[in-house]
Amino acid sequence: MALPDPSQHLNAAQRRAATFGLSPGVPALPGQALLVVAGAGTGKTTTLAHRVAQLVLHGADPARLLLLTFTRRAADEMRGRASAILAVHGRRSSKPSLELDWAGTFHGIAARLLREYADRIGLDAGFTILDRAAAEDVLDLVRADLGLDRSPRRFPTKATCLAAYSRAVNADLPLSAVLARDLPWLLPVADPLAELCAAYVAAKQRQALLDFDDLLLWWAEVLGVPTLAAEIGARFDFVLVDEFQDTNPLQGRILHRLKPDGRGVTAIGDDAQAIFAFRGATVRNIRDFPNACDPPAAIVTLEENYRSTQPILDLANAVLRQSTQGYRKALRCARASRQRPWLVVARDEAAQAAYVAEQVLATREAGMPLRDQAVLARTAAHTARLEVELARRDIPFVKYGGLRFLEAAHVRDMLALVRFLENPRDRVSGFRLLKLLPGVGPAFARRALDAVAAGGASIQGLAELPPPPAAAQPWRELLDLLAADLGWPAQLGAVRRFYERLMVELYGPAPDRLLDLDQLEAMAALHATRRGFLDEVGLDPPAAHGDLAGIPHKDDDYVVLSTIHSAKGREWRAVYLLYVVDGWIPSDLATGHAEELEEERRLLYVAVTRARDQLHLLQPLRVWLRPQGSGSDRWVAAARSRFLPADLLHLLEARAWPPPTAGGGTTAGTTVDIAAAVRARWR
Ligand code: ATP
Ligand code: MG
Repeated sequence: MALPDPSQHLNAAQRRAATFGLSPGVPALPGQALLVVAGAGTGKTTTLAHRVAQLVLHGADPARLLLLTFTRRAADEMRGRASAILAVHGRRSSKPSLELDWAGTFHGIAARLLREYADRIGLDAGFTILDRAAAEDVLDLVRADLGLDRSPRRFPTKATCLAAYSRAVNADLPLSAVLARDLPWLLPVADPLAELCAAYVAAKQRQALLDFDDLLLWWAEVLGVPTLAAEIGARFDFVLVDEFQDTNPLQGRILHRLKPDGRGVTAIGDDAQAIFAFRGATVRNIRDFPNACDPPAAIVTLEENYRSTQPILDLANAVLRQSTQGYRKALRCARASRQRPWLVVARDEAAQAAYVAEQVLATREAGMPLRDQAVLARTAAHTARLEVELARRDIPFVKYGGLRFLEAAHVRDMLALVRFLENPRDRVSGFRLLKLLPGVGPAFARRALDAVAAGGASIQGLAELPPPPAAAQPWRELLDLLAADLGWPAQLGAVRRFYERLMVELYGPAPDRLLDLDQLEAMAALHATRRGFLDEVGLDPPAAHGDLAGIPHKDDDYVVLSTIHSAKGREWRAVYLLYVVDGWIPSDLATGHAEELEEERRLLYVAVTRARDQLHLLQPLRVWLRPQGSGSDRWVAAARSRFLPADLLHLLEARAWPPPTAGGGTTAGTTVDIAAAVRARWR
């Protein structure tokens, strides 16, 4: 009996993409490249999962598939989906999910390959990965070493300098070109900035540190060596990339060098959802892809949206139609509904938060679990008020894309300690760690680190230094900790005991901080080695606010709070979008350039297309504003987002909040039926 075709439920175009180049009974061979371009919710990611499954069914070795996704969570989901599809076919493996060894983000895969090839490319295999904040700290030290912090005119901050550096790397352009194009106000300091970048690179190399950008840069450079490119390219028969519209030129180059003729490559994306230009991503990767392949890539487009109801899509289409850029034609769908998206005109921000909290609960009462509901915002800070409201009402939530857990000072302290244990050459971590001790200032910290460096990155040198008197006790404890051979994750427990005492002295007692330390311990226990742990926290930091705390109780129900950027590729049955007002969406940081404004419009499109059944757009009428650089707060009247002009309003159903009470007058978009009330008296 023939086994069921696991892709039989796909539509014709999806099936064509999933089985492109494959024939029944013929082993899968890498052939002509394939590009799938299609709008939101048309099943691109679904199709990619089917393609993975189909390749495996046709004999492709899962260990020789390279799957590149935008987040690690997306890679994990893909594994799950592809194994589920294989299970339909009766190929249920004994393992819970398909062994896709090489599924992850560009950065994650880069880290892995670089570790493996380290000794062949002159890289210390023990390198540690700097997250953004740690990279800023390294740059800051270099900036001080060069005396730039004392220059007569104020030199740009570490964050600005790193942003300029990072842009140049990711855009694959010289610094001067990036400054002229994107950051012209930095042109007067172009020379010292270039010097700073060079010194930053040298400092990282001396200390065996790689920042995020280095991961891509080093990978691209490795692939610039023909023999290594051939060797690494040959390890993968098939390379599949999701969310291709949000890759940058460096990632484009990596893909091209990995598979110069594009054989075996499948790239998937949607140019109308490109929202990472501010980080150097470019839709040119998608547009140029077909002709960069030899033979040129085949293109499959998907038309049918399976996610959202028609009224939600009508709004999404209308938002894009306002744009001058010719995006693909409108999405159509099979899911009719009479419910238009709501435009909730809230009296102020408190009313906005109250509306969401009440609606979330009411919707759950109506049978939709909290986890099918999400609140999206342009930036993480926009959910602050709501977080308080949710906490007050005991509504559990997790937050994505917010203030990262790993940005908290005490978590960074702990990690500095662990990083220093892993790599004693890491001066920034050493510096941070030493300065935690009472009585230790920059001068002593520097001397201590010099002693470590002089001893060939050994901590022996420390033992001979007399510590500042106030630090005598913790200094001894620290030396013991550095010398102890405890194994992993036991070592983290020791680090924690050492640090906890310092923490209370530094920040005072705080149960929340202890909880964060618990979370670190829980994470550490998931890794067999210290390095594995550091790679994980460096590359894919969990968010603060219980992202991890939620994990032990998988069946816990919670609302998701997310930035629009972090909501990419995901969907919920109900979506609440906060602050659909000018200055928030579009962000007033972006209204300068027409291009930036277009990106803001695409952000709204991405937000709207996350919703399956219900969409609530929130428009607070009054918002509390603290103008930058001034200490004063003020209330301002907010205007509806310019992306929702009057001629789109017929696509929305207006709702005032709090609802007008009898005698309370009317609010925009609602009418109180007084006549009916008068009639009712006589009934
Ligand atoms: P995005 O642009 O947001 O990344 P996408 O194009 O990747 O979206 P998917 O996430 O793959 O779209 O699919 C959207 C929804 O449509 C999912 O719930 C998926 O299960 C469903 N879907 C996709 N294809 C089909 C199909 N052929 N039949 C029924 N449902 C489908
Ligand atoms: Mg997708």
